[in-house]
Amino acid sequence: MLITNGRIATLGTTNQVIEAGALRIDGGLIAAVGDASALKKAYPDDEVLDARGQLVMPGGICAHTHFYGAFARGMAVPGEAPSTFTQILERLWWRLDKALTMEDVRYSALVCLVDAVRHGTTTLIDHHASPNAIEGSLDAIAEGAKQAGLRASLCYEVTDRDGPGRARAGIEENVRFAKSLAARPDSHLSASFGLHASLTLSDKTLADCVAAAVGASPPTPPGAAKNGLGFHIHVAEHQADQDDALRRSGVRVVHRLHQAGILGPCTIAAHCVHVDETEMEVLAETGTWVTHQPRSNMNNAVGTARVEEMLSAGANVGLGNDGFSNDVFAEMKAAYLAGKLARRDPRAMPGDLVTRLSYAHNARLARAFWPGLALGELRPGATADLVFLDYHPTTPLTAGNLPWHLIFGVDASAITTTICAGRVLMRDRRLLTLDEEAITARSRELAAQVWKRVEG
Ligand SMILES: [Zn+2]
Repeated sequence: MLITNGRIATLGTTNQVIEAGALRIDGGLIAAVGDASALKKAYPDDEVLDARGQLVMPGGICAHTHFYGAFARGMAVPGEAPSTFTQILERLWWRLDKALTMEDVRYSALVCLVDAVRHGTTTLIDHHASPNAIEGSLDAIAEGAKQAGLRASLCYEVTDRDGPGRARAGIEENVRFAKSLAARPDSHLSASFGLHASLTLSDKTLADCVAAAVGASPPTPPGAAKNGLGFHIHVAEHQADQDDALRRSGVRVVHRLHQAGILGPCTIAAHCVHVDETEMEVLAETGTWVTHQPRSNMNNAVGTARVEEMLSAGANVGLGNDGFSNDVFAEMKAAYLAGKLARRDPRAMPGDLVTRLSYAHNARLARAFWPGLALGELRPGATADLVFLDYHPTTPLTAGNLPWHLIFGVDASAITTTICAGRVLMRDRRLLTLDEEAITARSRELAAQVWKRVEG
């Protein structure tokens, strides 16, 4: 297929904006990028998709999300408004996840997948919890992702908060899903080992998880990080996590997790808002991925991660959404604004850094889950994950100033077409793989019942 008549923002190492550009897709990969008339002449028999002058960009990548939170939208938290982070967990999230049936799990994922296709996010790393529907939950989500045609890396969050039986079931669900993928590899799916957070995990459960993850590790492909199945855990989102770790083990969260064998280049440490310099060093030394979710951090009033200091310390940092909309531009805007406000310095968190976090860094992070996959840029050999934006700025747009267009001009509602691995998932705002109307109708029924169980 030849995409013609596009204004192509390649990002990546080539980082160009090609006016009147074209892009050739072959076998799910980008085969050529360049001048439209030259490519049309070279490939006259290709099927043509006319971008009609729209901006063509790489698909979005989300480094940390929770599909299971979909039914929380608009839900009132029962009782008094939570005044602390722990109360938010207890009164909202730990009530919602317990209220989910397997069908709710399936539809929560589908709702988020519709949202992802509409907002052009083609790769998502999810962290799932449904304590009363554990076994098979990752398959239910995986089926939705397959149906959508998106890439998803999945895990189940192990925790001690619901007793030893459910902690064991969570471990088994991670292992079962990882092994089933190892037996039947799927280019769109990947697995990690989910853990809730240090504050709900005993030393024994952490040790059980490490032992189970080693047993479930897929064979390491050449060039991939050595520890195979990585972990995905919330880290120091609030000071409460640090207080708990110091009480339990006498050391801070990152040190505790490092001692337990959790950290490494395939592990995601979400948030890291309350880490100190010694912890930043350990994150850097181990190659652990930190993910930044500023919309969630502001909503929970937990503070802002010191992203630039972590990067200076040599840590890997990507951008997630923690269950907010799968709209990378909204998260980028939040990162840009919150970063400046937190530091009270207009030089903090510049637009080009935010763009690197969202595309180049997240693409590197995704390679921990899909070794060899080139995401986040449009160049020959990269995967054909891309979006068209009906964005026609009144000011010059260049490769150099694109980051500030993304923050001040672009809105994800401008996305009209979403393509993943060369397959068109949405064309001219019409979803081609998911039945949005049916998903919305059934979700509304299910969500009303979930809300009743949460209130009860
Ligand atoms: Zn999270």
